[in-house]
Amino acid sequence: MATTPTSSTPPKRKATRHRGEGQWAAGHFTPLNANEQFKKDDDSLNVRTRIETIYAHRGFDSIDPSDLRGRMRWWGLYTQRRQGIDGGKTAILEPHELDDEFFMLRVRIDGGRLTVAQLRAIGEVSQTYARGTADLTDRQNIQFHWIRIEDMPEIWRILEGVGLSTTEACGDCPRVILGSPVAGIAANEIIDGTPALEEIHRRVVGNPEFSNLPRKFKSAISGSPLLDVVHEINDVAFVGVEHPEHGPGFDLWVGGGLSTNPRLGERLGAWVPLDEVPDVFVGVLSIFRDYGYRRLRTRARLKFLMADWGAEKFRQVLEDEYLHRALVDGPAPAEPVGRWRDHVGVHRQKDGKFYVGFAPSVGRVDGSLLTKVADLAAVHGSDRLRTTTEQKMIVLDVAEDQVDSLVAGLESLGLQVKPSSFRRGTMACTGIEFCKLAIVETKERGRTLIEELEARLPEFDEPLTININGCPNACARIQVGDIGLKGQLVVDENGEQVEGYQVHLGGALGLDAGFGRKVRGLKVTKDGLADYIERVLRGYLADRHEGERFAQ
Ligand code: SF4
Repeated sequence: MATTPTSSTPPKRKATRHRGEGQWAAGHFTPLNANEQFKKDDDSLNVRTRIETIYAHRGFDSIDPSDLRGRMRWWGLYTQRRQGIDGGKTAILEPHELDDEFFMLRVRIDGGRLTVAQLRAIGEVSQTYARGTADLTDRQNIQFHWIRIEDMPEIWRILEGVGLSTTEACGDCPRVILGSPVAGIAANEIIDGTPALEEIHRRVVGNPEFSNLPRKFKSAISGSPLLDVVHEINDVAFVGVEHPEHGPGFDLWVGGGLSTNPRLGERLGAWVPLDEVPDVFVGVLSIFRDYGYRRLRTRARLKFLMADWGAEKFRQVLEDEYLHRALVDGPAPAEPVGRWRDHVGVHRQKDGKFYVGFAPSVGRVDGSLLTKVADLAAVHGSDRLRTTTEQKMIVLDVAEDQVDSLVAGLESLGLQVKPSSFRRGTMACTGIEFCKLAIVETKERGRTLIEELEARLPEFDEPLTININGCPNACARIQVGDIGLKGQLVVDENGEQVEGYQVHLGGALGLDAGFGRKVRGLKVTKDGLADYIERVLRGYLADRHEGERFAQ
């Protein structure tokens, strides 16, 4: 018989390790933190109406704080860092003291797919409303800075007029769906995931059923044997494989993510045919919404649920509660066919035309340059361009007799089709120029580092990735770079605190994926960065064995 607890005998509860994680599926609908509260108070998608009808007319000061630092992200808007605040103040100041009255605006570009008209529209917005800024991100998006709230209605009119959108480009919702930039055209493609990507987009983006997730949800789909969408670090990913009985389809990966608690995604051992990918995507997304942890922001990504459940249980719940059928067992992807995943260079398409990938430095371009790229593509008979997950771009559908002229045109704009390993393999996040969480500068440092290394080591031509972050977050994927540089303040030889980096070495993606080793105690100042990397690479060149790669 059950006993009634008294004040001196607390009620006995079943001891579960994760009691009170705020999972909706366990009936925890009471918000357990401020983020959950504002998401419950009003669907974040509704902020669009307030921007158009109130804030754009009354200005920055009229914006409700829970919209300003919360819901606006669902439409791609973040406040940018107030200019002139050094990295030492980042952790000390209150959020409102770091806020500028200007915004970063992210345009989601699912699959990295752009037409000439869309790229021209991005160029127009950049030049008219964003002081020329337009950075390529490592998730195939484009980001503007210096955006005023007053201009948002007109910016949306221009972007949406050509089929672009900022819907759920940020926020706790389904973010941009990464896709192979050469889907449907690459001669060596296993399967084209484009129809699934389009159907997923139609079903989930802007859908209130999925606009309140525990945190962001990152996804990817690619049928390229280059494994070109960083599938290992997405919440859900579909990777092209050939099933011995059923033919081409996708291998399902779940629970990857970087940030300060990195975790590689795991295979569920399931093969998914193209037409079932949207159902499986929605199933995984729904598990995240229903079972994802909502108590602490730091434990709210899907990877934490996956770490507790494991792949076997995750697949069981997916099959039993969401798909109501068993998935087919399937093979793992094969070793990638190349070390570079970025599609830079000139490559033949399956239809006999060519695609041409080029390398802006650390994704830094601008509106005027993008407009010129759009014009160049059009002049050379192309209406399709792509962004990549390495902050690079590609022009598709170029006739053979147009290739040389296009390459020359791009190179005259400083966009190299045959870049050095340093230009090709270096990425940098936004950094202190605009990011409120940043401690150090990244973009300009990345650009000068590339030039330094090109001058010092012109003979170095191996695949190499150098990933530069402005803080301990992982927006430029430091943990999976050959050389990862995590921005922090360090002490120089004069005992002064200066900008610098904690070094991580030996991270990798692919079948031998793993996180870089933090080199204990190894921190370099900003001024010592090129010297340090030169020393590491020269040491490697002097000691390497036959067939050895830097990343090994
Ligand atoms: Fe900002 Fe840090 Fe992300 Fe860089 S890694 S964009 S500094 S949050």
